[in-house]
Amino acid sequence: MGGAILVLSGPSGAGKSTIIHKSETYIGEYYFSISTTTRLPREGEENGVDYYFVSKEEFEEDIKAGQFLEYATVHGNYYGTSLKPVAKALSENKLVIFDIDIQGHRLVEAKMGDLVTSAFITPPTLAELKRRLYSRSTDDKSIIEKRVENAKNEIKAINEFDFVIINDDIDKATEEFITIANASRLKLSEKELKNLIVHWQNNPS
Ligand code: ADP
Ligand code: 5GP
Repeated sequence: MGGAILVLSGPSGAGKSTIIHKSETYIGEYYFSISTTTRLPREGEENGVDYYFVSKEEFEEDIKAGQFLEYATVHGNYYGTSLKPVAKALSENKLVIFDIDIQGHRLVEAKMGDLVTSAFITPPTLAELKRRLYSRSTDDKSIIEKRVENAKNEIKAINEFDFVIINDDIDKATEEFITIANASRLKLSEKELKNLIVHWQNNPS
């Protein structure tokens, strides 16, 4: 497989979707991995665009069928990345972008580490995260509080990532993400490195 993987993680409300959206036209051709989830759609979210929204039973059938590259329970719901479209995009040498949690990042690293560049996105403080979750007004108080509680653990995994983006000023954070996304395409897999060495050695003069 060619291509490259860019994993973006960070607390819910950190600004991941906003940053990916704003970067769209500056990072070349890419495939954004649309996850499957058992959480209910928020107002304005579309099936097949933001997520594939399925029931718990459907999700568990997909687990049994081995459809997922990775999946995890996040904030009490299942979230997973389907293997097939990712493999297809990689075979077309595309950059594949994942917006997944820290558990998903660990699983993808374990399976495809040599293709992975990772970035953790966070607002400057917990207080600012809370403010953004409340001002986004897509979730009710109990859901927001659960996300805030989880964020306190998620931040502890920050050292597992190649890069950290402090999303204070949105334009600066977007610029940083664009730099990371474009650099992640230049990462060579072990196989590509081996081929390069062979090619280099076979052309002495
Ligand atoms: P995520 O995808 O990580 O859950 P979102 O992209 O939905 O987060 O952002 C959460 C909320 O914070 C949204 O209402 C968004 O408009 C807002 N937001 C994102 N970045 C900033 C920023 N730098 N300053 C202020 N608000 C922001
Ligand atoms: P939200 O419900 O706010 O859209 O997402 C909640 C959390 O689930 C975020 O941290 C997001 O990155 C994570 N997430 C979304 N899709 C996946 C996925 O396919 N796998 C994993 N492991 N986490 C995901």
